[in-house]
Amino acid sequence: MRWALIGASRIARQYMVGAIRAQHGEILQVLSASAERARAFADEHHIPRSGTDLNELLQNPDVDAVYISTTNEKHVPQAIAALTAGKHVLCEKPLALTLKEASDMVCAADEAGLVFATNHHLRCSGSHRAVRALIASGRIGRVLSLRLHHAVFLPPHLQGWRINSPGAGGGVIPDITVHDADVARFHLGEDPVSVVAQMASSGLGEGVEDSAMSVWTMASGAMVMSHESFTHPFAGSGLEVHGTDGSIFARDVMTQNPIGSIELVTASGREAIGFDQHDLYAEGVRRFHAAVAGDGEPAATGLDGVKSLAVALAVRDAAARGVRVEVNYGDLH
Ligand code: NDP
Repeated sequence: MRWALIGASRIARQYMVGAIRAQHGEILQVLSASAERARAFADEHHIPRSGTDLNELLQNPDVDAVYISTTNEKHVPQAIAALTAGKHVLCEKPLALTLKEASDMVCAADEAGLVFATNHHLRCSGSHRAVRALIASGRIGRVLSLRLHHAVFLPPHLQGWRINSPGAGGGVIPDITVHDADVARFHLGEDPVSVVAQMASSGLGEGVEDSAMSVWTMASGAMVMSHESFTHPFAGSGLEVHGTDGSIFARDVMTQNPIGSIELVTASGREAIGFDQHDLYAEGVRRFHAAVAGDGEPAATGLDGVKSLAVALAVRDAAARGVRVEVNYGDLH
């Protein structure tokens, strides 16, 4: 697979260049709004070409797929242009700032017959897969509730558009709540139906929320409690799944790296659960390559990205208006 990178971003630098190459993908070029930044990125990562012209990049017949990791408001026009040019697309979350735009991306991919995936990395981790398998095995019985702890401290080098630019899709809800929505859907196999929520600016947010707490009701009656923040240096992350016959405690698993621990607690006692510790992002690229080759679906599809965005939008709306909000997933199913 021959890739082009749209966005000279940190996530591309830290994880995705390595993940693509680990799956034997070739990176042909990188695009940035700044020629200097594109060139520096290309030099640093030994990428043959760099530039600022999206059309020129998309006209390159050697490029099979693009990875989009620009700021959130740019994802839609860049993805639609890439799909129109016949390129498969792996797009960062949140797919868009509105549900309509995200749905348009999925429709464009369907019409073109191209693979369109969302880079929700957590469902690619060995830890989350082990939790999901435990739930599916029935060892905790009927799921009653899921608690998601995803309150972290945003390091200074990430404190740019995420904390001060609503226009670029800043705020903890588009940044982290989307991941938590995807995790809940992945584990429980159902979509949140309605949400209540509160949000706050607790030290970092300048015009956007930096913290949110919400409760989601699932169709089965299970309840989900979700906490996201940019301002919690020592809270750690994790999830708990509580069922009629047992509980799962997964600690430090809401991360970018294959770390953490899982414990199953039942009437028989406490049991440490092992899991595979592969690279999350490389696994996402592996599934993307397979989907392009006609073997299954990407780890998180475009529709998964639409649904995680729908939940995040509902959380923000519920918090802003102080009411319970039914999640609007639009017309796609
Ligand atoms: P960055 O702030 O690093 O990059 C976003 C854009 O900012 C880049 O495309 C770049 O624009 C511009 N930029 C980068 N460095 C500079 C600079 N020094 N001066 C001016 N502009 C600069 O964002 P992230 O990598 O943190 O996030 C990018 C996307 O990836 C977001 O959509 C985010 O939500 C997502 N993300 C996903 C993660 C996941 O695990 N799935 C984790 C982290 C982020 P240009 O391309 O024009 O150079």
